[in-house]
Amino acid sequence: MRLFAKPRPVPRLPVARRAGIVAVANQKGGVGKTTTAVNLATALATTGGHRVLVIDLDPQGNASTGLGVTRAGRAVTSYELLLGDAALGTAVIATSVPRLSLVPASADLAGAELELGPRPRREFQLQQAIREHLGDWDEVLIDCPPSLNLLTINALVAADRVLVPLQCEFYALEGLAQLTATIERVQRALNPRLELHGVLLTMYDRRNNLCDLVAADVRGHFGDKVYDTMIPRNVRISEAPSHGLPVLVYDDRCAGSVAYVELAAEILRRAGRSGGGGAGALAARLGA
Ligand code: ADP
Ligand code: MG
Repeated sequence: MRLFAKPRPVPRLPVARRAGIVAVANQKGGVGKTTTAVNLATALATTGGHRVLVIDLDPQGNASTGLGVTRAGRAVTSYELLLGDAALGTAVIATSVPRLSLVPASADLAGAELELGPRPRREFQLQQAIREHLGDWDEVLIDCPPSLNLLTINALVAADRVLVPLQCEFYALEGLAQLTATIERVQRALNPRLELHGVLLTMYDRRNNLCDLVAADVRGHFGDKVYDTMIPRNVRISEAPSHGLPVLVYDDRCAGSVAYVELAAEILRRAGRSGGGGAGALAARLGA
């Protein structure tokens, strides 16, 4: 294990640019949402020197565990935040990574959808909870659950941008029309600021020909919305969470760490020339 004591031989991030509020979403499980939220946040906080907040919005709480916060350490969580029972300041906890903070999740969150059901403006709960404190952060990354439920809708309403991780596998594009249609609906009815910022190819294995076919297919569909950076399949990435560490802290030289730093740089570059309105065009292309 290495900690951040030495200068990193990786791209410098354009510090002046900010990614704003980014929802990491895909209703499929196991595609790399949590891994991306945790490690992109770590790259922005360490290499970029940004103040970053991760909001764990998945009842499974994998981002919280992956950032080394045990269940016992989760006093106030995103559940209380969503229900309006706690202020953001009481839920935010520091992590072992400098400048990186977390709103942890608990299993209670699974019941939030039902409890919020009857409330007016139930889609705006998260936005309301965080909006007054946004000056405290350069970036807020929201780790969504594997579902297009009210939790994910709250994330999309609070966000400026959506990042969609796609696993390099045969069925990668399946279900994406539904996701882009949801993003478009949120844009139209609830949050006109929302932009599909990019599609991230994860678990890319260059020894596997199928990966190249899938990557070409995804680039054919999404064009320049696909980030140039691909996250390789890397065993260090999958080991790191069991140590409660981002891979960038667990092994900052491994291919997975380098890729997440490159992704952070690319996202900040793209944030400087943001277009917006991408989801509608994408939904049309996908026939949604
Ligand atoms: P999601 O949040 O979309 O459900 P995760 O980020 O939890 O997906 O990833 C699912 C599993 O795959 C986890 O065990 C994670 O450690 C592993 N994983 C994610 N990205 C990679 C990668 N690039 N290389 C190897 N394993 C990965
Ligand atoms: Mg997850």
